[in-house]
Amino acid sequence: MRHPPPPRFAYCPRDGTLLVPTRIDGRDRPTCPVCGFADFMHVQIGSNTVVERDGGVLLVRLNYGPRNGSWALPGGLVENDETAEEAARRETAEETGFNVSLDGLLAMWMRPGFPILVVIYRAHVVSGQLRVAPDEASEAAFFAKDQLPPLEQLAWPSTVHGLDAWRAYEPPRP
Ligand SMILES: [Zn+2]
Repeated sequence: MRHPPPPRFAYCPRDGTLLVPTRIDGRDRPTCPVCGFADFMHVQIGSNTVVERDGGVLLVRLNYGPRNGSWALPGGLVENDETAEEAARRETAEETGFNVSLDGLLAMWMRPGFPILVVIYRAHVVSGQLRVAPDEASEAAFFAKDQLPPLEQLAWPSTVHGLDAWRAYEPPRP
């Protein structure tokens, strides 16, 4: 499979200066002569939560797109005007009705040549009632560690990775 050429900035995304090729780490990269910005990989950031309650993890069943009917962690893409943490809380509330508090980074997922980086936070419910967004999910539920949906019903490689990390997680000892 051929990969398309990676996207490049022509102008500095910080100050608008025309970028000039500069040798860094063995490759020519568009670089800003004013602020030093260098153009490396472009990715979207997906931000997800592993919300645990009574030993179970919260999953949502997608009802759109190529993964229709499969299960995913609550989450979505980070917007320009928010942090990854804010996106994780916002998407979880939108998709499940639960307001959550984050308990730290659990895992991240990426694959070379694939322009997305997924971060996965541990979280717990602080308020709200289970209520799915009807345009995004058909249902949402908590699953015990030994009763997760089968692999072929999980939406993304990052879903599998996040659930593996959740099962392996041990809280720090006092
Ligand atoms: Zn610059």
